[in-house]
Amino acid sequence: MISAADLHCGCGEGHPPRAAGGPWYYTSVQAGTMARLLSGPYRNHPEARAALPADRAWAWAIDPRGPWYAYGTARSYAKDLKTVRGGAAIRT
Ligand SMILES: [Zn+2]
Repeated sequence: MISAADLHCGCGEGHPPRAAGGPWYYTSVQAGTMARLLSGPYRNHPEARAALPADRAWAWAIDPRGPWYAYGTARSYAKDLKTVRGGAAIRT
């Protein structure tokens, strides 16, 4: 079922209509050529964006270089991608 949040979250980007198979959203971190998913999957972009402050704070706490990394979100049709924060942060 498509909710309003799936299509309109105020980020200015278009969201593909969501079906049972996805897409799914993750929080992400990038440092140079290194990129990792921090947490997810989330059902829609607003949920991933809402998780980003806590994930960023977590990264800052464990890595002194954390404030210089770039944080954002990622979209995938894969629901079981590996995330740095692991299963505790997975929401379905
Ligand atoms: Zn969005």
